[in-house]
Amino acid sequence: MTPATRKLIQDMSETMYAAPGIGLAATQVDVHEQIIVIDVSETHDDLKVFINPVLLQKAGEEENEEGCLSVPGIYETVRRADRVTVQAQNENGETFQIEAEGLLAVCIQHEIDHLHGKVFVEHLSHLKQTRIRAKLKKQRRETL
Ligand code: ZN
Repeated sequence: MTPATRKLIQDMSETMYAAPGIGLAATQVDVHEQIIVIDVSETHDDLKVFINPVLLQKAGEEENEEGCLSVPGIYETVRRADRVTVQAQNENGETFQIEAEGLLAVCIQHEIDHLHGKVFVEHLSHLKQTRIRAKLKKQRRETL
């Protein structure tokens, strides 16, 4: 891995922990590389780095309330697979596969969506999306 990528991963994890959040995709910090960082541990000491992640398998269904650093103040219930198998490279360039479930599975799917330019609210109904857009517009008006 290049020093630039190493630095990017460090910056991304700092941004994620500071937010605080449990996951961050490179696209959220305007870097168009296929990299996500995730730490769903309560002690914030279990950083997982996924480079070029690919979802190999999805199973089951689960509904979870999700929020996103890119859509501040919005929390909505999203239905996703509750078990996933992902292949990616780690920070040493080694390919690995993991099977994840529960919160980690949700977070992986949420962050991979970001790499494809998709935000979690796009999983919601059009009516809900319209309401969220109106709310975000209002927030922006109030903070600028
Ligand atoms: Zn997000």
